[in-house]
Amino acid sequence: MQILTTAAELQAYTEQARQAGQRIGLVPTMGALHAGHLQLVQAARAECNEVVATIFVNPTQFNNAEDFRLYPRVPEADAALLAPAGCTALFVPSVEEMYPRPPVLRFDFGDLERVMEGAHRPGHFNGVATVVSKLFHLARPHRAYFGQKDWQQVAVIRQLVADLSFDLEIVACPTIREADGLAMSSRNRRLDPAARAAAPLLHQVLAAAAAQVRQGVPPAQVRAAAEATLAHEPLVTPEYVEVADAQTLQPLENYAPGRAVVLCLAAHLGGVRLIDNVVVVR
Ligand code: AMP
Repeated sequence: MQILTTAAELQAYTEQARQAGQRIGLVPTMGALHAGHLQLVQAARAECNEVVATIFVNPTQFNNAEDFRLYPRVPEADAALLAPAGCTALFVPSVEEMYPRPPVLRFDFGDLERVMEGAHRPGHFNGVATVVSKLFHLARPHRAYFGQKDWQQVAVIRQLVADLSFDLEIVACPTIREADGLAMSSRNRRLDPAARAAAPLLHQVLAAAAAQVRQGVPPAQVRAAAEATLAHEPLVTPEYVEVADAQTLQPLENYAPGRAVVLCLAAHLGGVRLIDNVVVVR
């Protein structure tokens, strides 16, 4: 596995591969890798000749300085996991390399980002779109792999690709969970034992809500029941629970026939903010 640290190295590496007729898969991450990330690498490996993973804790997508400071960083352990999973090149740039000057361009994804993560983390999707655009321009992948764990992020990136005519295909992979249902996340490493023990409640609440959606329980009632269950657990502070259209991400008042529903939540556990979602095809 090649380790690349500069934009020029990434460009040269991927340009040479492209000239040689290789298909390039890109897997952008912020590191502290787990099975959810490795699944993306393995999916890329199955479909592409070159698998370029990137590890960059992107400051522009953090709206909370403390969250950025405390974000887990374990570069050696990450590199050791990537090669066996089929990664052929790892791009690990510095902040200065990615942002030689402070970016001023601002993305606005309209209704897609007026809800959930966009509403609760101002500027988050601007930072995501900035860094993902840079990676797409530098690596010019044929396919880029993202996790459904960040359902809204996938929607925003699909819009980005459409609006800016990036010549690539977005592949969305399912959420990988721990045995007790907790969605894998780099931030799980920061949970203390008590918070970790309470954390499976997030997925339990989503699973119960999904069952209600399948039974046709109205969205407002599903939302209220989920919020009540979360509020019952003293270690969990819910930030939002949403019952939304899976494509438009707009909150639902009623179910529309034939349209998938996404149930999303964000909650704080002992100072760590976690998100999760499940999709219900009705
Ligand atoms: P992150 O390092 O958290 O920015 O995540 C990098 C990529 O991995 C994103 O596309 C995430 O959606 C994806 N990802 C993170 N956690 C999971 C998970 N538990 N299952 C599937 N994909 C995930």
